[in-house]
Amino acid sequence: MHRGGSNGWSSGYSEHPAALIEDEPRSPYAIAQDGLAELIEAAVQAQRIEAMNAAMQVDVIFLTVGHALRSEEAFVPNTLSAQRRREMAHRSVTAELATALHVPERTMERQISEAWALSTTLPATLRAMRNGQISSRHAAVIVQETTDLDDDPGLRARLDEQLAIIATGTTAATLRVRARALREKLGIESLEARHRAARAERRVELETARDGMAWLHAFLPAEDALLIKDRLDRIARAAGDGHGDGACGDSGGDDARSRDQLRADATRDLLLHGRLADESVFADAAATVQPTVHVTVPVLTLAGHSADPGELDGYGPIDAAIARRLAAMAPSFTRLLTHPVSGTVLDVDRASYRPPADLKRWLEVRDGGCRFPGCNRRAAGCEVDHSVDWQHEGRTAFDNLAHLCALHHHLKHESSWSVQHMSGGVLEWTSPAGRTHVTHPRRSIPVGVGSNAPASSAAGSISADSTGPPPRLDTTNESPPF
Ligand SMILES: [Zn+2]
Repeated sequence: MHRGGSNGWSSGYSEHPAALIEDEPRSPYAIAQDGLAELIEAAVQAQRIEAMNAAMQVDVIFLTVGHALRSEEAFVPNTLSAQRRREMAHRSVTAELATALHVPERTMERQISEAWALSTTLPATLRAMRNGQISSRHAAVIVQETTDLDDDPGLRARLDEQLAIIATGTTAATLRVRARALREKLGIESLEARHRAARAERRVELETARDGMAWLHAFLPAEDALLIKDRLDRIARAAGDGHGDGACGDSGGDDARSRDQLRADATRDLLLHGRLADESVFADAAATVQPTVHVTVPVLTLAGHSADPGELDGYGPIDAAIARRLAAMAPSFTRLLTHPVSGTVLDVDRASYRPPADLKRWLEVRDGGCRFPGCNRRAAGCEVDHSVDWQHEGRTAFDNLAHLCALHHHLKHESSWSVQHMSGGVLEWTSPAGRTHVTHPRRSIPVGVGSNAPASSAAGSISADSTGPPPRLDTTNESPPF
């Protein structure tokens, strides 16, 4: 067959160039075209393999999360409520996958929910992915466009079948347009419309429980729950009768809200904006809490080797004798020991759970942010965690404290993720699966003043480098090691 005609467009990719040797020489265009066709086909195949891999990842993620949830009692403490156990098992396995795969946890959360939806509700889409016919981006669109159909599995199944077919021949963006048109044709309201409808259903419900208790979405003694409900009823009735001003209401001036809606809105306003009456014990809570004052004492002063003054937080310098006396008066006074040269806080006695402000600042500089592997949350939004719990004799000292965001703080305490404080502020995390992840402080600690250094040699290091971080001092002994 003659190929490579004058315009070169008639040649077919499947014909083998070897058969053409005896024909007239092929045009450069035809040769280039063959090469291009093969490369395009390679790109198509590569994408197909990528889609099949994505399907495999969906399967593995689904299996992993399923396994973690089924074996939750092995990974989270059984002291938690059933709901909390499940939540923590889920969070824990999310962190496990994110750290192992080096993706942000939020990305992992999305991948998990997509894998879950595909594996449990979208068989046609997952099949197309496994066959390499549609990409993970197409699958994500189908997940998004069917995610609000939990209450209509039949409709979701129809969409799954039809969209999986459409997806094989369009871009992901076009698929989304087609999916929305199809939803409209099938009479499915938009998410916004569904939310509007759900919002109109807002109400306050009281559910009685055993042992004289009840749920008002807060587990309360029944009499409290009933009184609260009665108060909300009265407020809602008064507002509904035109006695309320409706200023904080959901629907604005013209009040067409139902009694249920009024009760819900009154709850919101009371919790968000309500003030406590003067006679409430909580209104005057400051007078009832145990006051504590920080007393800062240079470590040599405490040992009686120096007459350097101490400092009473909120007052100012105090003489050495008073400083020593106040330092002995735990728990009313929290004793802060300071470095003899730099004045940095070295340690806090166990009367205090919270690190004092300057130790906190020092830790902020060292950590820079949450110390969980892969987390980028800034220190300002984090909590300072005791690596060894305070109630388990963990000390409020720099080598037992690290910043964790609220999410990872909970994860550490309510799952089998664990952390070990290594020297130099390095943290070694062990995941429930037994994988280790090391995180480093933003600013490293000089060699020789780590937490494992004996106190005497640590003191020597400090004299040499007074700007360095604090060494560990054991303040559980009455006399410091000098
Ligand atoms: Zn974090």
